[in-house]
Amino acid sequence: MRQRSRHTKITFTLGPASAKPEVIDQILLMGGDVCRLNMAHADHDTVRRNVGMIREASKRTGREVAIMMDIKGPEIRTAARKEALDLKIGDTLDMGVDPNCKEEEGIALAVVNYPLLVRDVPHGGLVLVDNGLIQLRVVEKRADRLRCRVEQPGKLGPTRRHVNLPGVKVELPALTEKDLADVAVGVEVGIDFIALSFCREAADVEALRDVLNKHGSKAGIISKIEDQSAIANLDGIIKASDALMVARGDLGIEVPYETLPLIQKRAVETCIRYHKPVIVATHMLESMIENPVPTRAEVTDVANAVFEQTDSVMLSGETAQGKHPLKCLEVMTKISEKVESTRPTGLNSDVIIEEPKHKMMKAAAQLALDVGNSAIIAFTRNGAKLRLLASLRPNGVPLFAFTDDIQLARQLRLVWGVEPMVMKFSVDPEQNVQEAIRQLRVNGWVHRNDNLVIATNVIVGDRIVDSLQLRQVQ
Ligand code: PEP
Repeated sequence: MRQRSRHTKITFTLGPASAKPEVIDQILLMGGDVCRLNMAHADHDTVRRNVGMIREASKRTGREVAIMMDIKGPEIRTAARKEALDLKIGDTLDMGVDPNCKEEEGIALAVVNYPLLVRDVPHGGLVLVDNGLIQLRVVEKRADRLRCRVEQPGKLGPTRRHVNLPGVKVELPALTEKDLADVAVGVEVGIDFIALSFCREAADVEALRDVLNKHGSKAGIISKIEDQSAIANLDGIIKASDALMVARGDLGIEVPYETLPLIQKRAVETCIRYHKPVIVATHMLESMIENPVPTRAEVTDVANAVFEQTDSVMLSGETAQGKHPLKCLEVMTKISEKVESTRPTGLNSDVIIEEPKHKMMKAAAQLALDVGNSAIIAFTRNGAKLRLLASLRPNGVPLFAFTDDIQLARQLRLVWGVEPMVMKFSVDPEQNVQEAIRQLRVNGWVHRNDNLVIATNVIVGDRIVDSLQLRQVQ
């Protein structure tokens, strides 16, 4: 059996450092699984060009990958200003809610694009600017502005800066006009996933699902949890979504940072329980944007996510604008392989398994572990069997998914341990099994005497019956 090099998948973000045919080819050959387009930085022409480039690279390398469009979602920002503002500790700053607000009493003013700011942030509450670098405490509430004291100093740049309001249930629609326009282009170019930024509750996921249904798109929804509302509604969000992203960049600002590791652990565990893929994201190899080697803390952070059994780790700026995008893939691969090689074999016991067919998959996973030197082959039209198998995390057992739907094959790239393959299905189940084994043999995935646990149908008289088979490669 050619052991899959790793079960943990790698999501990488495309940007100037990587959006080049020769770099994408290398990333795919090194096992990049999901390509993220960050709509905070990409216009529609760039999306069209990049999607074309990825699909071309897939043809060249023979490796289809999933493309995720990460939309910005409801976001609060300061208005652009003529010049930067150097804020010192103890300074006073007004945060205005109306674009026509004027400076009062000689106090500097920053305008914010959230009209309910004064209503929603309490006296004594926190306003964080520029990813939490600048910390402001509300000392007075006026009709059109919050008067704040600077508690953590910094330079408020002239461009629109990101604002976080920790603990505030922000009343903004789940999808902005820009998001809707981005989704329309994503659907047009055949995006496989939409990542929904600042998802706060299951209803946000359903709103996006409605939009996708209206477009006739089967793109999966990856909900990004980034604030306290999302944590309060975690189970509902996971159930409504196709996958989850622990978006630690914003989450680490919106919640006390010491709670972040606990939230990450809980999110990964809950996703596994509901058989939903999960991505641990942001700052995983941040120092490698500049340096060719990771810090020791970064190595341990990636390793921790793999110990927690996440489906995917993610690279953001590291592959988008870093100096060493390929090295980052290599580092993540090495860490994942090492950690996975030390994990005990045994199935996760807290996965929710209700359907008889899913119980059969559990039996398949156990059988594969028991006989050893085994892979599982499953035929699928919706991926559910594979997601269930993966949630059991049968360490050391490759999960070969055969489907006739190329988009599903791409989407299954995100799922722990799954190696998706596209195949035209025959009405004869035995022919499908033979063809699957042939493809695996030709591509060097399996060899003579390897064991295969196969979840397939058999025709008995005029009935089709689910079956689990144990075969040996001839
Ligand atoms: C994050 O906040 O961690 C994240 C992935 O989202 P964004 O890229 O929007 O910062």
